[in-house]
Amino acid sequence: MPSRPTLCQTCALGPSLRFSRFLPPCLILTSKVLTKIIKYFKDSELKQSLAFALLVFALCGSAVIWKLSSEAAPVARTKEVPLLEIVHRHDDPFQQFPESFPLQVAVFWTNPGPDPENPLPLVHSLKEMGIPFFITRDLPEALRHRLVILYPSVDSRTFTQPQTDQLATFVQQGGFIFAQNVFWGGLQNLFGFHSFAPSRNRHRLVFSVTKDPVTKYLNRPEERETQLGSERFPEIIWSNGYVPAPGAEVLAHFDDGSAALLTNAVGKGRVYLLGLSLLDVVLRNQNNHDYEAQRHYVNAFEPGADVWLLVLRAWYEAYGNDWVRLATIPGGQRSALLLSHDVDWENSFAPGLDFARIEKANQASSTFFIQTKYVDDANSKAFFFAPNVEILRQLKAGGSTVGSHSIIHSRGFNKFELGSGHETYASYQPRGLGFDTASGATVFGEVRVSKELLDGEIPGQDTTFFRAGHLRVPVSLPEALERSGYQFDSSFTADDVLSNFPFAIPRGFGFEEDSEIYEFPVTIEDEESPGFAKRVPQALGVIFANAENGAVSVVLIHSNESILKGAAEQELLRQLPPDIVKTDMLTFAKFWRARDRLQWSLTETSVPTEVVLQVKSAESVAGLTFEFQRPIATVTGGATMSPDKRHLVLPEVAPGYSVSIHINYLR
Ligand SMILES: [Zn+2]
Repeated sequence: MPSRPTLCQTCALGPSLRFSRFLPPCLILTSKVLTKIIKYFKDSELKQSLAFALLVFALCGSAVIWKLSSEAAPVARTKEVPLLEIVHRHDDPFQQFPESFPLQVAVFWTNPGPDPENPLPLVHSLKEMGIPFFITRDLPEALRHRLVILYPSVDSRTFTQPQTDQLATFVQQGGFIFAQNVFWGGLQNLFGFHSFAPSRNRHRLVFSVTKDPVTKYLNRPEERETQLGSERFPEIIWSNGYVPAPGAEVLAHFDDGSAALLTNAVGKGRVYLLGLSLLDVVLRNQNNHDYEAQRHYVNAFEPGADVWLLVLRAWYEAYGNDWVRLATIPGGQRSALLLSHDVDWENSFAPGLDFARIEKANQASSTFFIQTKYVDDANSKAFFFAPNVEILRQLKAGGSTVGSHSIIHSRGFNKFELGSGHETYASYQPRGLGFDTASGATVFGEVRVSKELLDGEIPGQDTTFFRAGHLRVPVSLPEALERSGYQFDSSFTADDVLSNFPFAIPRGFGFEEDSEIYEFPVTIEDEESPGFAKRVPQALGVIFANAENGAVSVVLIHSNESILKGAAEQELLRQLPPDIVKTDMLTFAKFWRARDRLQWSLTETSVPTEVVLQVKSAESVAGLTFEFQRPIATVTGGATMSPDKRHLVLPEVAPGYSVSIHINYLR
């Protein structure tokens, strides 16, 4: 990539002075001046000797000054980034998700030990969909609720015979159960299967054409058929293909024809049985341990994990009694378009101002992910200094938000060591050696030192959002981000994780516990051929598909030029329907984090048409929206109703405060 001449803080000639492998510019200047002096004294031998001595003296002096300045204080302002400890806060799911109101879905945890499958995959699914739930080991407590999920599996040791009878009675009398991987013959009749066969080589799943309500959100071809793993792997995730009993309906089947999702009506109730684990079809995709189940990498609609969230949402909405759901999008809107720019080249700063102008003119804003390149290396010269940094200050002051895009932007970032956590601007000297190799670079260094610089150089900046260069993700990234005070990441593509909803990243990309970091995967990017400017209709198609599901779309446009790409972004924003929010990533991410951590309950009153919604947030959050099955007549507490009378938008909730809203249903 071409390089622009750079300005030095110490001698106004070149900041690369401090790190340059080349002859320092000060020295070049000194020798030019001295050559002129020599010319002036040229006529005299004596003068020539004097001049020569002067030249030697000056050269040595210059070298000393250069040496001193090359070891002088750092040229950039920094702000210290404390190294935080990992806090394990959620080791008991029963305490974390207690029973508090009748509308909650009861999750009966069937497998508490000794090698338990964690409820985390189900927790992700229900929280992302805004479905209220609690987790219990107490069956009578679970069966007091109308909707019950048995998770993660049921075998011959799970239930006693009296408990089995209780389950059957519960469904007979109008209860609804969603279960996965029921293996026990004692429950065959209830769940409507004749037999099952486990396998690791079922690669595809097709939903049936049916009137059953749980598939109501699966209207697109990419949702009607999904891929469980690439054909390149003969063995992928475990699945259990069921042979249905007479009377049961098959709602989805695997490529070998066996049933993947069954439903069976029993008395006044109904059961659903899934032959897959949400661990494999939701969490495994989100933490990118899937068997390349994605059908595209980026720029296409890939809902392979989302279909299961949508099935659970539809199940809750079909059978919940006067259900209420915490919506995914703020302000009663349908979807959100999250705009971002990657600034990873020295000439990418100035066009950023053009994008910010276009966004402002379209009532939008964006997040700029900045490569804080302060070293010269094989990939490029340094460029994190004035006037580029001044442009960042302007962007921030103009309402854009700023995140980190690492320091050396290495394609080998995913192979970097974690590092010590004590990397600082003063000591951290990474160098890209080539395409995907580097020396002196660590994950901590890239994450921490870039934050040190952005926070130090931009007034009011607290960097909490990260995006890896080339979207290369090391396994230690959640730890490095968490311990450096970040909250958000956008280093995956939505297609790769098969999900278009933000999610908490599990620690170490494992299956046990969430980190403090939320992921906002990239949906649309600008570089895939034939380029973003020619793909606006395709991008809109993906955005509309996500909007139908209440999912979000993240757009990444590199700010290396603003003529073609700016016009394309303008066109995209112009064609966006008004019920899709256009916002920067950080603003939405803060909303999502508060939403994900929200405590809420809905309680009945002595008046049959009146309920009370109580909401408590640890952080400030605006635009929280609840969706109701029953139309609403009136509300109190400063909440506003949408025109369809089924969405309620809360006033801003202050951190640590509770809000109570009385709701009167229309009927
Ligand atoms: Zn980049």
